[in-house]
Formats: sequence, C-alpha cells, structure tokens
Amino acid sequence: MHKKTFFIKVWGCQMNLYDADLIRDILASSGFMPVDNEEDANIILFQTCSVRESAERKIFNHISLLSRRKRQLKNGLIIGICGCMAQNYASSLNKKYPDIDIICGPNGYIDLPNLLETALSRGKFGVSTSEDKRVAYPVLNPSAIKGFQGYVAVMRGCDNFCSYCIVPHVRGREKSRPPEEIYTEIKGLVDNGVKDITLLGQNVNSYGKELKTDFASLLYLLNTIKGDFRLRFLTSHPKDAEEKLFHAMAECDKVCSYLHLPMQSGSNVILEKMNRKYTREKYFETIDLARRIVPDLTVSSDFIVGFPGETNDDFEKTCDAMRRVCYDSSFVFKYSPREGTDAARLPDDVPKEVKEERNRVLLALQEAISHDNNKTYLGKNLRILVEDKSKRNPERLFGRTENFKRVVFAGDASLIGRIVEVKINRVTALTLFGEQINV
Ligand code: SF4
Repeated sequence: MHKKTFFIKVWGCQMNLYDADLIRDILASSGFMPVDNEEDANIILFQTCSVRESAERKIFNHISLLSRRKRQLKNGLIIGICGCMAQNYASSLNKKYPDIDIICGPNGYIDLPNLLETALSRGKFGVSTSEDKRVAYPVLNPSAIKGFQGYVAVMRGCDNFCSYCIVPHVRGREKSRPPEEIYTEIKGLVDNGVKDITLLGQNVNSYGKELKTDFASLLYLLNTIKGDFRLRFLTSHPKDAEEKLFHAMAECDKVCSYLHLPMQSGSNVILEKMNRKYTREKYFETIDLARRIVPDLTVSSDFIVGFPGETNDDFEKTCDAMRRVCYDSSFVFKYSPREGTDAARLPDDVPKEVKEERNRVLLALQEAISHDNNKTYLGKNLRILVEDKSKRNPERLFGRTENFKRVVFAGDASLIGRIVEVKINRVTALTLFGEQINV
C-alpha cells in the first residue's frame, strides 16, 4: 500500500463537507493520495462535528473501533482527528485514545502535511489547535464540486455566541474571504459546468464587516458572472437579515428565492436566554418584509425544543410562531447541553420525555403546514434543475425548483444536470410529483 494514502470520514454540516474538500486539496498538493475506500488508506482522518451530543457520541464510538483495529492489525495506520472535536477536546483526546496520531482544529488544516509526515516518519504525535481565532485561513481553491453542484465558503467562524452553541468556541471568530477570491472560485465552478452553488457561512448576513463590504454586495457581484447557474446561501441570522439583502435576492436573477432563517424559539423569554438578540415580533417583521420584496419566497427554519426553563407556555409560543410564519420546512432539535457554552451552566431541567413529546408535536405541525403549502403548487408548471435519480424508484428523477421545492417525476437519467419543466399533479409534505412537459 502507498504509505501516503488517506481517507476522510465526515460528520456534520455542509461546512464540514467543504472543509473535507479543503483538506483533500491541501494533502493532494503535498503528495498525499486520496482513496475512495477506508480499507485502502494508510491514513484515516475524522472530520468531526461538536454541534450535537448525539453526533459526538457516534464519532467517539468510531474512534474506539478504529483504535482497536489499529492495535489488532499493527499495520502502522495513522489516525487523525480534525475539525471541531479536535479543537474542543484537544487536551483530553490523546489521553483517552492513545492510538490517535494527530489532532488538528479548524484553523490548522494547513499544518496537516507536516503533522502527517512527522507521524509517518518518526511516529511522533502532533497537534495543531491555534489559540489565535483570527489566524489567517489558507485558500487553495477548495471547490467542493459534486457533479453540477458546488459549495463555497464565503466566511468562517462566528461572533454571535448564542448561548447553546459551541461553534464560536471551536471555529473561532468571523473571518470573511475577499469578494474577488470568491468571484474567481465561483466563475471557475461555472466554467466547469457547475449549475447549483451554495454559499456557506455560519452567519452569511454579517459577511464582509472587516472588509467594509456586505453580503448583499457580494450577491450583486456574483450575479454578474455569465452562465446558467443558481446561487443559494446558508445560514442567515435573523438579527442581521436586512432589507438590502432581500432587494439583492429579488433583483439578482441567479439568486434563489429561498431563505433559511432559524428562529430557534417562538418565546421571547427563551430567545433572550439563548442570546439570539431578536424578539419574535422583530423576527415576524423580517419575514413579512422578505415576503413583500422577494417573489415566491420559501422560508425554512431551525427550532430547539426543551431549552433550559422552557415551559409549556414557551413551547406553545413556538408552535404559534410556526403557524404564523407557515414555514415550508423546519429542522427540529432536542436541546442537549454543550460543555463550555453559557447554556451548559443552566439546569437542563426539561425532562427527556417532555423534549421528545415537544419534538414530535412540532414536527407533526410542520408536516401539516408543509403539506398545505405544497398543495398551492398543484396544477402549476415549475422549472426544475434535475439533481439525480430518485432513491426510491430509479425510473424517476428528482430535482429542485428555484425556491428549493423538491420535485419527483418520471424521466431519463440523461436529464440530470439540466433544467426541465414539470407540471405538478400530486403533493406530499416533503415532495411535489409531476410530469415533464418540455420533452
Ligand atoms: S449564529 Fe449562533 S447558532 Fe449560529 S453558529 Fe453562531 S453562535 Fe452558533
């Protein structure tokens, strides 16, 4: 086996997928070779996520299993832990799992080739977890190309310190990439046939503060790139989503009419405890404004149920907010404390079964609302960017509308990556079904 073959196991969000591609770029340009199967690799890297306790538990289990395998096989396997858990548990990981060879936090990926070379040649343990949260981030054209879909980080880190969130503690403070650099990267993607590009950042609405620009200006700039492509972005913070952004969404033909605006709770008491810096009233105003300015806007959200001190009345306010906004979709999470955050100092006093029940109720409510929203598309002709074959039925294809509705229809695989028109004749809460009309 080539001594410098590596495989990356990835957990967590789109940002982690993007970072895994960045790591691939950094290692490949230093003579390391990526492989598709874990079994073919001499180096296994875990790109980890600390946002939820359940994900961390799974990752710890995988590290235990791999450590055991390394001891049994005695094959010189190198194990590296990268990303948020590497930063979060830097001091304890190696003590708990002595078979780990390297630990590398989100600010240290550029050090990976050296760390790995040292581990391979001298069997030496290495760590890179910069304490300087403003450390410059390497940019090596890390386009995470997935066929015709691409993800591009426009910024890293977060300055918000929501009380439940570990991200600012492990990923560091906000740092935006220069607009020209993002422009060049996206132009490169479009020139290579990418049609669906998602701009990534923990809070894209505060993009550019230190560069004396803003996210809306970035969208106007990227909209000047010639070509047939769509732009989306994740994630927006309600306190920073302003009118200028909505005008950019309405005026830029490449920017999709889709807004993910996490509300987290409908109760002002809980929002304050979460340090979200907006009220439910302000949030509703923002949504109303966005809907007035952006035609056909679809909106999604995240909610946390069972936050410390959440009463039945607080939870009812969250249900009320969901009904009021009529989201197209929502992610619902049960609160779990993350060590090192402010909320972890509050008593986790909502019983597990109450969290589960609130989770169930909110998901059921969202499902009913989504289904009702989707019924308004019955009989309409929609333009779909075809993404892939349907997993349930390979005779069918699925794709998304410009406002991020998932559509399934019968069609030939040669349509993947193309835009087609589909007439909608059936809907569920998650999906619109129809027939292609421009064969
Ligand atoms: S905005 Fe809040 S929830 Fe989002 S990454 Fe920053 S601290 Fe975490």
